Amino acid sequence: MFCPFCNQKESRVLESRLTNDNSVRRRRECESCGKRFTTYEKLEVIQFLVVKRTGTRDPYSREKLRAGLSRACVKTAVSAEQIDNIVESVENELMAAGRREISSSLLGELVLSKLSALDQVAYVRFASVYRAFQSVDDFIAELNLLKESLKDADGRSKQILERAELEERLSKDATIGSGKSR
Ligand SMILES: [Zn+2]
Repeated sequence: MFCPFCNQKESRVLESRLTNDNSVRRRRECESCGKRFTTYEKLEVIQFLVVKRTGTRDPYSREKLRAGLSRACVKTAVSAEQIDNIVESVENELMAAGRREISSSLLGELVLSKLSALDQVAYVRFASVYRAFQSVDDFIAELNLLKESLKDADGRSKQILERAELEERLSKDATIGSGKSR
């Protein structure tokens, strides 16, 4: 941040305060000329597209994801704060992976990998919406997966992202190879 008076880069933060609209107000003092000025830092809006099963794309909505999670977590031990944490860490992982698009199923998998460590009821509820179980066997398979994932939630979400990337690459290769889209 350049000083508006002398254009030097270094400044000292005198005071930081969170404002009502979720930005950070910082009072700064220029280390060069000593004059004071104020900056506002705002959280970058998370923008990526969610590709639905039907192939249509919707802008990612934090509110929608939070609402879905809240429904799954009704009458469980999962707190509102934990729900926010899940949303936040999913967003962070997607940004860190540099993704601009994500399939709705992959988004669901990421959330599930985090829910699995928190509450089994919430997990199964969320899974039943996202995975639309076709049969009792699917459901039982899901429960077995859950037991596995309880051991290593973080490791699992990394695996999910890596697997998704691999699948995308493979499906692109297949498209090129066959000369037509699937
Ligand atoms: Zn200055």
